[in-house]
Amino acid sequence: MNFYDVLAKAKAGTNLSVSELQILLDAPDVNAEKELLAAGYAVKKEYCGNVVNLRGLIEFSNICSRDCFYCGIRKSMRTVSRYRMSMEEITAAARLAGEYGYGSVVLQSGERSDREFVDFVTGVLREIKKLPCQLGITLSCGEQTMDTYLRWREAGATRYLLRIESSNPEIFARIHPPECSFSERLEALVRLKAADYQVGTGVMTGLPGQSTADLAEDVKFFQEIDADMIGMGPYLPQEHTPLGQANPDAPGAAMKRLELTLRMIAVTRLLLRDVNIAATTALQAIDPAGGRERGIMAGANVIMPNVGDTGRRRDYQLYNGKPDLDENAPEVRLKLLESLAKIGEIPRFNEPGDPLHYQVRTRKNEKI
Ligand code: SAH
Repeated sequence: MNFYDVLAKAKAGTNLSVSELQILLDAPDVNAEKELLAAGYAVKKEYCGNVVNLRGLIEFSNICSRDCFYCGIRKSMRTVSRYRMSMEEITAAARLAGEYGYGSVVLQSGERSDREFVDFVTGVLREIKKLPCQLGITLSCGEQTMDTYLRWREAGATRYLLRIESSNPEIFARIHPPECSFSERLEALVRLKAADYQVGTGVMTGLPGQSTADLAEDVKFFQEIDADMIGMGPYLPQEHTPLGQANPDAPGAAMKRLELTLRMIAVTRLLLRDVNIAATTALQAIDPAGGRERGIMAGANVIMPNVGDTGRRRDYQLYNGKPDLDENAPEVRLKLLESLAKIGEIPRFNEPGDPLHYQVRTRKNEKI
């Protein structure tokens, strides 16, 4: 089947096979690629309108017990100065997000599962829930036990982001140390579903040794686990990590990964339709002038502006080239509003912006 036949099927909302998804990802030329991205955006517009949901991102700690081979805050990284924001600092950042009308916050950190950390996050959630602005809260704190997921859910978190990173177990094993297991990661996603979170997952695109066949399988994986939210970003080598050192970037490689990520966003939107898809910071790292906006124009409907302290941002660099290192929250906000206006998109203010998919999926379950 050729590209345009598959694209027509995708536009009509037909369920696509892995090989058809790959045909789309392999768009044969620039025009085909343009049409693919436009089709992704058209479906986004149909399901979400020309509206973008905002989440204030709070990177509250870079202390991590894991040693993922690609990550700039992995445990073995000796040069990173480690921090954890205090309860007051996190609540102040959340309050600011509320004042900006962001409607939701994402609390992200390195992974820890010790008692002190679990209790701390529970306390933070309770404090944020006390704020007058009624924020939706997303957590992104890695793999945890069912007990912990339930406690955090009860304390006020409603969404959780945990990327599968790659749904190909061989690639997963190549980019993680042996103590990180693919099946454990899958289990954690199942637990999150069972604990009644809106579940987000995703992958890095352009990992060493990853093909468009793998990426097509990733999109099918999102469908199979019935994810509510998808966050995908280009892999960005961090020069002091094992993966970054073993695979230095050729010139132009980053831009190719950005384009591949845009095609992934469009294909994911065409297949999954009513999920939330983030235009991630990693897109902006490659194209600071418009990476995130290009993500929206390919079908994403969520942006996560940083509301944390600029002082801390330098110590939370998962990869090289993190944007906006010196811009404080008001500047980040202004730039974002301007750039959204330029592409004719409207920020959704003062609403949590739950994924339509979660509402449909839970309503379906009620009927059963
Ligand atoms: N510790 C938490 C959250 C922080 S990492 C967790 O692991 O879920 C958040 C995401 O950043 C990861 O899921 C990964 O996909 C992405 N990331 C890390 N290092 C990266 C790199 N070098 N390039 C691109 N994305 C990266």
